[in-house]
Amino acid sequence: MNIQKVLSTLARDLPVMYEHSVVGLLTDADGRVTGVEVEGPEGRSTIESDLVVACDGVMSPVRQMAGLEAKVTELSDASLTFMSPEPVGTSFKMEYFADGGHIGLLGWPEGSAGWRSIDRMGAEKALAPGLDAIKKMWIDLIPESEPGVSALTSLDQIRYGEPKIMSCPRWWTPGVVIIGDSAHFFGPETGVSSGLGLGDAHALAQAIMQNRDDPDAACASYETWRAPVIRPYEATDPGLSRMMGASGEPRPEEMWPPPSG
Ligand SMILES: Cc1cc2nc3c(=O)[nH]c(=O)nc-3n(C[C@H](O)[C@H](O)[C@H](O)COP(=O)(O)OP(=O)(O)OC[C@H]3O[C@@H](n4cnc5c(N)ncnc54)[C@H](O)[C@@H]3O)c2cc1C
Repeated sequence: MNIQKVLSTLARDLPVMYEHSVVGLLTDADGRVTGVEVEGPEGRSTIESDLVVACDGVMSPVRQMAGLEAKVTELSDASLTFMSPEPVGTSFKMEYFADGGHIGLLGWPEGSAGWRSIDRMGAEKALAPGLDAIKKMWIDLIPESEPGVSALTSLDQIRYGEPKIMSCPRWWTPGVVIIGDSAHFFGPETGVSSGLGLGDAHALAQAIMQNRDDPDAACASYETWRAPVIRPYEATDPGLSRMMGASGEPRPEEMWPPPSG
């Protein structure tokens, strides 16, 4: 199923406004959020609501505008990723290194992407071996990546990153609640974020059903029942502590940059 089918299925029977961004929050005299200001092709307009549900990703503008605190934790690993317009013959593959690092491949009908963990060393050093060395490393470690990796033509398609995880002590303030990645962001190994985000939406819908006329009570109930699901994932994120392999040392072919000579 491609992304358009998923999006149109999710939007069925819902009043969706495309090409609009939330650019501000409306508040009453007590500071309670009472809606949003949006910007679209025809300019700015406002939408009033009893509860603004922000599901706007890890950088969540709504979270920031609402003043909800986000705690960011640096991970010890960095990452090297690629994005290719060429598909591969598999949707997912992941392998662990002898030192507990990992490498993976994602495939979809229109392209592919890969990631691997490396030590934090800065983009310059990580990319210094060059495109051909990066392609060889990926194909050696995950042969299924070959069609996607071979289609890469520029180092611009490779990205060095230093992943961080993010958690929020509070998920709501009167009139606004954050769910999904806007409320919690895990490391690249956790692999549960979509499911947890959908679970957030489901749990919030249940809390609203049980507190139809009281958005604050709905949010308080949501936080009470959802925290025991989310907080343990935050506390045990695999990115916080590597599970070492038998030797604790990477095999030579897993090292990055590759050993010289
Ligand atoms: C490479 C990679 C691999 C992953 N693999 C997995 C996996 O295997 N399993 C898994 O469960 N999860 C995985 N994830 C995580 C998963 O993709 C996210 O957890 C999920 O997409 C979060 O959904 P979300 O709706 O909370 O946020 P997002 O998907 O970030 O959606 C937020 C949306 O809000 C919109 N937005 C932002 N600001 C505004 C604004 N001001 N106004 C209007 N709209 C706005 C954005 O355009 C975006 O469409 C992976 C992520 C990456 C990057």
